[in-house]
Amino acid sequence: MGRRSAVVVGGGSGIGAACARLLAGAGWSVTAGDVRFADPGAPEGIVQVTADATSPDAMAELVRRADAVAPVRGLVYSAGIERHGSAVTTDPAVWDVTHDVNLKGAYLAARAAVPVMAAHGGGSIAVISSIQGLATQKGVAAYAAAKAGAFGLVRAMALDHARDGVRVNAVAPGTIDTPLVRQNAAEMTPDDPERALREWADMHALGRIGRPEEVASVVAFLLSDDASFVTGATWVVDGGLTAAY
Ligand code: NAD
Repeated sequence: MGRRSAVVVGGGSGIGAACARLLAGAGWSVTAGDVRFADPGAPEGIVQVTADATSPDAMAELVRRADAVAPVRGLVYSAGIERHGSAVTTDPAVWDVTHDVNLKGAYLAARAAVPVMAAHGGGSIAVISSIQGLATQKGVAAYAAAKAGAFGLVRAMALDHARDGVRVNAVAPGTIDTPLVRQNAAEMTPDDPERALREWADMHALGRIGRPEEVASVVAFLLSDDASFVTGATWVVDGGLTAAY
C-alpha cells in the first residue's frame, strides 16, 4: 500500500481510538481529531490533533494536517455523545448538541474530506452510527434521531460522491465496552453499574457486549481496497442483538 492518511474524528477514546490503532497497525498514517484524548501520549503512527467536530474550520484544518502527512484516502467519524430524555423532557439545547456531535459533525468532516479524497482519485468514509438508529429504546429521542439521520446522510453521500471514487458506509454497533457505555450504566443504575452491563450483555445473542476492536476491524475492512464494491450500506456489528425481537 502506498502512503495514505486516515482521519479519525473522535479518535481520542473508545471505538475511534481502537480504529486509529488498528489502521496505524495496517500501515495507514493516522491523524486523530478529538476534543480530549484518553491517552495523551500518541501511539506510534498516530498524530493527535485537538479538534471540535462541530466546527467547520476545525474539520477543514484536521483534514489539511492529515493531507500534509500523506494523501487522505480514509475518514472515520466516531465522535458521539449520548443524552437521555423523551421528546418532551429533552431540552432544546441538549437536542442541538446531540445532533451537532453525532450527525452534523459527520457532514462537516465529510465536507472537508471528500474534495481532498476526490483529488487523490478517491477514498472511503465510515460513519459510526448505532443500532439505536435502526431500533431503539425509551428515553433517547435526540440520540436515536441523530443516529437514524446518519444513515440518511451516508446513503446521500454514497450517491453524490461515488463517481469521484469515494465510498461511504455506516456502521451500527450494538453495546460496546467503552467509556460512553460505562457512563450510561453508571447513570442508569448508580447502585450497581455492573448489573446494567450484565443485563445488556444478556440482550446480545452472543451473550456479551462487544469490544472496540471488534468494531474497528469492520471499519478497517470498509476503508481497505477489499471493500472496493461496498458503498451506501449499513454494517451492523451487534453480536446478534437486532436479530431478536
Ligand atoms: P467514547 O465516549 O469512548 O468516544 C467518543 C469520542 O467522541 C470521545 O473521545 C469524545 O471526546 C469525542 N467527542 C465528543 N464530542 C466531540 C466533539 N465535539 N468533537 C470531537 N470529538 C468529540 O464513546 P464510544 O462508545 O467509543 O463512541 C464512539 C461512537 O460510537 C459514537 O458515535 C457512539 O454514539 C457510537 N456508538 C457507541 C456504542 C457503544 O455501545 N459504545 C454503540 C453504538 C454506537
